[in-house]
This record gives sequence, C-alpha cells and structure tokens, in this order.
Amino acid sequence: MPLIFVRNDITRMKVDAIVNAANKSLLGGGGVDGAIHRAAGPRLLEECRRLGGCETGEAKLTRGYDLPASFVIHTVGPIWRGGFFGEKEKLASCYRNSLKIAEENGFESIAFPLISSGVYGYPKEKALRVAENTIREFLDKTEADMTVYLVIFDRATLDIGKKRFKEIEEFIGDRYAKAHGDSPSYSAKRRESLNRPEVSFSFDNSLIDGAYRDADDLGEADACTGIAPIAEAAEEARENAPSSAKQKASAIVGAGMGGAAPSISNIGKAIDELMDESFSEMLLRKIDERGMTDSECYKKANIDRKLFSKIRSDRLYKPSKPTVIAFAIALELDLNETNNMLMKAGFALSHSNKFDLIIEYFIKHGVYDVFEINEALFAFDQQLLGA
Ligand code: ADP
Repeated sequence: MPLIFVRNDITRMKVDAIVNAANKSLLGGGGVDGAIHRAAGPRLLEECRRLGGCETGEAKLTRGYDLPASFVIHTVGPIWRGGFFGEKEKLASCYRNSLKIAEENGFESIAFPLISSGVYGYPKEKALRVAENTIREFLDKTEADMTVYLVIFDRATLDIGKKRFKEIEEFIGDRYAKAHGDSPSYSAKRRESLNRPEVSFSFDNSLIDGAYRDADDLGEADACTGIAPIAEAAEEARENAPSSAKQKASAIVGAGMGGAAPSISNIGKAIDELMDESFSEMLLRKIDERGMTDSECYKKANIDRKLFSKIRSDRLYKPSKPTVIAFAIALELDLNETNNMLMKAGFALSHSNKFDLIIEYFIKHGVYDVFEINEALFAFDQQLLGA
C-alpha cells in the first residue's frame, strides 16, 4: 500500500483510476482537466454532463474511455484565498473522498495530480504537504491493497523545502567529489554549481557499489562504520555480534551444559548462526525486537503488503537495495545496523553514489520518515524507497 511520487503526464498513467482536478461544473476546463478530457475523448464530457456538477471537496466517478486508466475520479479543489477560508480542510476532503471512491470500487491503483496547485493557486509546497499527509493517513488505516501515485508534473514543485535540499547538496558535495577524486579547486567549483537553484543530477544509481572508505571521514566519530568495505564490515559485524550472540550462546550453554563454563565452540556456533541469518530472518528478528507489528513495519517502509509476504515466506529472498533501505528506515536503524542489514543482501553504502549519500544524510540526522526521504530522492532524480 505504498505512496509513490512520479513525474509524468497523468493522462498516460495505466492505473485503475486517475483523479481529475475539475471545476464545479465538471464540464471541462484548462490544466490537467483539459488534458484529461482531450485524452479521454468526447464520451467523457457526455457522461460528466449527466452528473450535475460537483461541490468543492466532493468527488464523482466516471469511466476513463480512451484513457489508459479505466476510470476518472473528478474532484473539485478549493481556490486559494490566502488560507483563511478552510482551503486546507477542503483540499484534504478532495483526497479523502477520491480515495473512498477508489476503496469502495476495489481499485488497486490510483493516481492524483497535485489538486488546486495550478490555476486555483494553492501554494505548491503546502498543496504537496496536504496531499501527502492525507494519503498517508488513509494508507495507514485502510485494509485495501492500494498503490497511490502522486503525479508531480512540473519541476517548479520540486523547489520545495529549499533549506533541506541545500543542506543535502552540501552534504553530498564534498563527499561525492572526494569519492570521485576531485581536486580541491574542482570540488569548490562543483559546490558552487550545486548551489544553483535548479538542481538536476543524473547519477549512476547502480545497485552494487564498490565499498568505499573515505579517509577524512574516518576521523568523524559517527561516520566510519557506515562506509567500511564489505569484508571489513563483516569482520566488524562478527566483533559486534557477541552482545546478542552471547545471549544465544548462554542459552545453549545453560541448557546443554548444566552451568559449566561456556565453551568457545558453542559461542562460536552461536555467532555463526547469527552470521548465517538471512536478510529475511534478520528483518523479522528486528521487527520483533522493536516490538512492531509486521503491518506497522511495512507501512512505515512504504512497502507493498504482497512484497512483504514474499520476503516473510522466503528466507532466501533477495531484495533490492532500496527495499532493504526502506526497512532500515522503518526500523530506525543507525548507519552501522543499516550496513549490516544491507550486507545480508550483498549491498553496502558508498560515497560514490548520491542515492547512498542522501540516505546517509537522513540517517545521520535521525530523520526516519520514508516520505520525507523520498521527496529528497525525487528532487535529486534518484530511485525512491518502497513500492
Ligand atoms: P487546479 O485548477 O486544481 O489548480 P490545474 O490543472 O490548474 O488544477 O493544476 C493542478 C496541478 O496539475 C498543477 O500542479 C499542474 O502543474 C498539474 N498538471 C497540469 N497538467 C497535468 C498533467 N497532464 N498531468 C499531471 N499533472 C498536471
């Protein structure tokens, strides 16, 4: 039941329903409304005529006709008048009522434009916040298996949260430049270029990166463990293992040896068991340790229930890197634990990859909100977490 941001033309989306930011007459207009009517063909207007209009905040359903989407949910957003006339609540109603229609009709996928944020003048950042919060509230509560897409059409929307993005740019700037062996002058130039208001990176987002250790970062108390090379990190994990492995070993020793001194081979065996733990087993153990339910965890990770079931039932399931990270974020793991979990699936965090650096930034800042992280990943043209 994830929420996914996409940059697309909503009329091209092959989903059960797309949502139209319509006006009260439902007889078509400009912006996304016009685009939807053009793509759906004249039969859409014919059906809309029979609906007798729609009040602000309400929603009505029609077929999709020539659209790739099977249905259109028409909703009327509020016109922005400074925020003093209940605009926020009315906008939230648009999302809630559209989602209700989708739920009642058993839709599995629905795509929203950023309602009211065009001609109706709702500030884009605020409109995005209302959309995101309302959709998340719905997804948290619903039993339906539904994927909700939020379609961000123009780049201007991405000028959101400038302060946060600037910080991330700076965080990325030095580390990324160093990882790619930039000279200091090049690095400064690059930083300069990173401060441009319009940021458009195209990076290599390959899933397996060469593990990387940044010499300067090793001096930072909180930085080194997250970027250790795999073999070393494995060794480190082995060293770190005793706290939980010891408990396991004590249990084995306590049960089998009647209080005799712990045998090295038994402790070794327990550590090996822990090291043999698969990604799936580690995930389930961590969910238990955190006292979370499965659904709390996969919802917080923005992961589809079906995918979670697959992981749960297949101990050797091989997840993608964004999936592992989504769970690490949901479980609020620190950098070290995140890397241990990534290792289970054959990945590691690296400074030569901007996706990884953005993740590292959020973990270091203790921000464990997948949606906030996804906004940043989206703005930096990176693959998103969850699905
Ligand atoms: P409103 O009148 O509710 O403000 P608009 O259609 O003017 O509706 O704009 C709503 C949002 O839809 C804007 O953010 C606009 O950029 C976006 N938009 C316009 N055309 C499309 C499209 N084809 N696909 C997705 N989003 C679109």
